[in-house]
Amino acid sequence: MRRVYLDHNATTPTHPEVVKAMLPYYEDVFGNASSIHQFGQQARMAIDEAREKVAEFIGAKPEEIVFTSSGTESDNFAIKGVAYANEEKGRHIITSSIEHHAVLNTCKFLGKHGFKITYLPVDRYGVVNPDDVRKAITDDTILISIMHANNEVGTIEPIAEIGKIAKEKEIYFHTDAVQSIGKIPINVNELNIDLLSLSGHKLYGPKGIGVLYIRKGTRIQPLIHGGHHERNRRAGTENVPGIVGLGKAIEIAKLSMEKESIYLTNLRDRLYNGIKEKIDNIYLNGHPVNRLPNTLNLSFEFVEGESIIHNLDMKGVAVSSGSACTSGSLEPSHVLKAMGVEPAIAQGSIRFSLGKDNTEEEIDYVIEILPEIIFRLREMSPLYKKKRD
Ligand SMILES: *Cc1c(COP(=O)(O)O)cnc(C)c1O
Repeated sequence: MRRVYLDHNATTPTHPEVVKAMLPYYEDVFGNASSIHQFGQQARMAIDEAREKVAEFIGAKPEEIVFTSSGTESDNFAIKGVAYANEEKGRHIITSSIEHHAVLNTCKFLGKHGFKITYLPVDRYGVVNPDDVRKAITDDTILISIMHANNEVGTIEPIAEIGKIAKEKEIYFHTDAVQSIGKIPINVNELNIDLLSLSGHKLYGPKGIGVLYIRKGTRIQPLIHGGHHERNRRAGTENVPGIVGLGKAIEIAKLSMEKESIYLTNLRDRLYNGIKEKIDNIYLNGHPVNRLPNTLNLSFEFVEGESIIHNLDMKGVAVSSGSACTSGSLEPSHVLKAMGVEPAIAQGSIRFSLGKDNTEEEIDYVIEILPEIIFRLREMSPLYKKKRD
């Protein structure tokens, strides 16, 4: 059977060049990067090289890059680390209601431990209003955490404006850029970002490796205590193959991002237009223009998203109902809810997230098989029958 993978916001296949770059660090250069001998020093050099690539890509200095185990750890580190190191100054944190659970649940945890959290609303396209950020700031505010681009609907947030406000008020600004890295450009200086999270497996790199960028001078408390790794900011023997793989993935993204973005936008719009032409009662979720080039989130009225996923899966097509964490539960997405999407319509939502290896032929296959699936599911819906009669 044909297999079409359209769930790249959940994870991406590891680029063959990335795998190739990693292999020697399992087999030959297996040393501990803290060791003084040649085995160790070769590993150390590989880490330094990767660190430089990551730093350059986001406009940072190498010493501002800390390797972690994941995007989730980076988000935890940024938020808890700043909270604990600055609690004498204040205990108020501003975030949005559409963040990834790595941010939301970290804030929720801090909310139960003496911190006050403001969850900002979004408009119907999923955009945070910078004026709301400004208005939420109090003398107690120590951190603003707003994501660069949303993983479920792809909306790109106005983080340039938010960074400007944060800088003006001398408040730390963290952005979760896990979903945007490698898809759209980002520069920590131009955008006044103090902390930035990214993850390897969302940009054709390996799983289990992440980065937290920490601007020089930022007061932050480590999460993981132990040895003196990562300049005392994150203990634990470095994941050398993972770090090398991430460096390679970033190097590839730097070369291919611009072209890929045009390619994916066209492919995504081909999918949207093809579906729109054949199926009625559908809604686009997310910003119509300021959106990640690869992301298309659609609501199909009168059907359950889960049923669409299963039916597409039987035809070899992999999509998701939003975030990997919410699928499997029947609870509607917190992102769509915050955008004001009616629960009945949110239930019928599907996220198509495209990747560099998808082809027009694959997209046309989806356009061909989807209408039959939707019509069949709608035939079973009492609400749809009622509307038609
Ligand atoms: C995937 C994702 C994360 C979590 O990253 P992991 O490396 O999978 O832990 C965090 N934030 C966003 C926006 C994501 O899409």
